[in-house]
Amino acid sequence: FSISMDQLKLDEELGKGNYGTVKKVLHVPTNVYMAMKEIRLELDQAKLNGIMMELEVLHRAVAPEIVEFYGAFFIESCVYYCMEYMDAGSLDKLQGVGVPEGVLALIARSMVQGLKFLKDNLNIIHRGLSSLVVIAVAFRSSDDVIDVKPTNVLVNIAGKVKLCDFGISGQLEKSLAKTNIGCQSYMAPERIQGESQNNLGTYTVASDVWSLGLSMIEIGMGRYPYPPETYSNVFAQLTAIVHGDPPELPEDKYSATAREFVAGCLVKRPQDRSTYQQLLDHEFLNEEKLKEVDMVEWVKKALVYKEEEKEDQRVKMLAQMRLSA
Ligand code: ATP
Ligand code: MG
Repeated sequence: FSISMDQLKLDEELGKGNYGTVKKVLHVPTNVYMAMKEIRLELDQAKLNGIMMELEVLHRAVAPEIVEFYGAFFIESCVYYCMEYMDAGSLDKLQGVGVPEGVLALIARSMVQGLKFLKDNLNIIHRGLSSLVVIAVAFRSSDDVIDVKPTNVLVNIAGKVKLCDFGISGQLEKSLAKTNIGCQSYMAPERIQGESQNNLGTYTVASDVWSLGLSMIEIGMGRYPYPPETYSNVFAQLTAIVHGDPPELPEDKYSATAREFVAGCLVKRPQDRSTYQQLLDHEFLNEEKLKEVDMVEWVKKALVYKEEEKEDQRVKMLAQMRLSA
């Protein structure tokens, strides 16, 4: 079936990204809550039609670790993309409470399975869009991409972890206005080097494994793993990724097994990096151990913590306003 704006009742805003806003909406005919992403583009009708066709592929991306795609439509020069609403939000905002090893392992397994599914079934791989260095040139290739990072790993209160935002539409990516200066790059070293040499043939599925490893450390540490000095200096950050040692999971919080799993993702030479199959077979994802993890309970705690944090911030802000008044 197809979705149109007049069937939707707008609810709260879920978040803002570099390219648009995500809102919770109710699809009235089916009584289903959805997440609707608005992406602003300056494009002619022909290109918009092209994007809509490319998005059709998404109806085939059905797997337990993938956020379901419901449909898209456009109004004027905006594309509206409707997907499964994940009621606990993205991992970047849930990690504050702390992420025990078992929970991190469950998250990792979902991510690996989701990425492997996309690769095996739709041939979608990631090219690390979130970097200033990724200029229009990079989008000439027709390979499909997925942007692997914590904001694109979503969770629901049933304890399920799913991936969203894979760039299936080459035309859509070509049309995105990239204004994210001073962001955090999840791009693998070989991608950054390939980019700077204007060589587009260097990325493979191994580049996704790198982004997965980096995301896991961010989720485990509660912050982007490269030094904070590099957050506002893209050049310093990319230099650190290409020439520095890869980051590691903190020793005081995670076992040698967990650290080894992540280290396998962050080997700088892509040829020596772990494959999805090796990751799935790793002791860190041991079936018996994963069975004991209570994800539902963790999500509940994480949500309570997130609310408390929000309230704390509100109180602090009010106090500051009073001070400056
Ligand atoms: P970028 O623009 O670089 O991709 P981003 O992933 O943070 O960054 P968006 O994809 O626009 O930006 O998403 C904004 C926020 O909306 C996310 O961080 C996430 O918290 C929330 N969000 C996105 N999709 C959903 C969804 N399906 N269900 C619930 N929340 C969502
Ligand atoms: Mg996103």
